[in-house]
Amino acid sequence: MIRIDGSQGEGGGQILRTSLALSLVTGKPFQVNKIRAARKKPGLMRQHLTAVNAAREIGDAKVSGNRIGSSSFSFVPAELKAGNYHFAIGTAGSCTLVLQAVLPALILADGSSTLVLEGGTHNPFSPSFDFLSKVFLPLLNQMGPNVEATLEKPGFYPAGGGRFTVKIAPAGELKPIEIQQRGEAVWQKANAVISQLEPGIAERELKVVKRKLGWPENCLEIKDIKNSRGPGNVLNLEVGYENITELFIGFGERGVSAEKVASKTVKLAEDYLTCDAPVGRYLADQLLIPLALAGKGRFRTLPLTNHTITNMDIIQRFLDVNFEVNKETDGTVEVNVSN
Ligand code: ATP
Repeated sequence: MIRIDGSQGEGGGQILRTSLALSLVTGKPFQVNKIRAARKKPGLMRQHLTAVNAAREIGDAKVSGNRIGSSSFSFVPAELKAGNYHFAIGTAGSCTLVLQAVLPALILADGSSTLVLEGGTHNPFSPSFDFLSKVFLPLLNQMGPNVEATLEKPGFYPAGGGRFTVKIAPAGELKPIEIQQRGEAVWQKANAVISQLEPGIAERELKVVKRKLGWPENCLEIKDIKNSRGPGNVLNLEVGYENITELFIGFGERGVSAEKVASKTVKLAEDYLTCDAPVGRYLADQLLIPLALAGKGRFRTLPLTNHTITNMDIIQRFLDVNFEVNKETDGTVEVNVSN
C-alpha cells in the first residue's frame, strides 16, 4: 500500500487526482491522509468525492473513507473496466478535474469508453472545457489515443448544471512527444462568453483586449449562451501556433468590473506572449502524467509552480520515472522525462 501525505508540497486536490489516476493505471493500492490540508476547507469536497467514486467504478476498487469532508481514504483497485459511464458532481464542482482522475487509465484500457460528466464546465482554478478540448486533448491525441470532448451545456459557478461527453478510443501504449518550440503564430482569438447577463459586459471586455493586445476586430467574438442553468461570464484568449495552442481565461464576478476581468486575463496572456516557452504553466502540470506514462518526452515551459513540483513527486510514488528540470539562460525551463 502506497502511503501518500496529502499535506505535502501544494497540499491540494491534485495529490489525490494524480494518485487515483496512477493507481488505476498500475493497479497499485494507496492510502492518502491529511487530504487538501493546505486548503481553506480541507478534506474531500463534492468534486473530489465524485472523482474518488468515478475511479472506484472504473477500477472496480475497494474504497474506505469516501465521504464529504473526509481527511483520508484508501483505494484498492481490482480491474480496469472500459465502458459507458455517467458521473454527476451535483454542484458546480469542476467536471474536467473529475476527468483527470480517470482519463489516464481509460486511454490505456482494453476497450473504448464514453463518459458523460455533469457539473461545472468553466470553473476558476481548473481547466475549462475549452482548455481541455483545444489545448490539452490535441496534444494527448498526438500520443496515440483518440479522445473527443463535446460540450452539450456549459455550467458556470454557482449554478452548475453543465454537461459534456468524452469519447475515448485508447492507445496500446503512449508515444512520447517533444514540445520545444511554438512554431509560427497562426491565429489568435478573444472570445467573450455571457449567459443571462448584459451583452455590454462582453463588449467592454473585448474593448480592453483590443486596446491592450491590439488584436484586430475579426479576432474578437461574443458568444451569448442560451442554454445554461445560471448566469456566467468568461473571457477566453486563445493563441494558436504551428506546434501548440494556449488559452487564458478570466471569470466575470459580481462586484468586479468587466474592464478589470479583461485586464487580468490580458495579463495572463501577456506573461506567455512575452516569453517564447511553448508550454504554459497549467499545461506543464497536465502533460506530466501522459509523458510519464509514455516513459519519455520533453517540453519547454515557464518556471515550474509548486503545484507542478508536487505533481512530479506524486507521480514518482507510482511510476519509475525521472523528471530532469533544466533552467535555460532565457528564464524558460526544460522538463525532460525518462525512465
Ligand atoms: P483543490 O485543492 O481545490 O482541489 P488543486 O490544488 O488541485 O485544487 P489547482 O492547483 O488550482 O487545484 O489545479 C487544479 C488543476 O487545474 C491543475 O491540473 C491545473 O493545471 C489546472 N488549472 C488551474 N487553473 C487553470 C487554468 N486557468 N487553465 C487551465 N488549467 C488550469
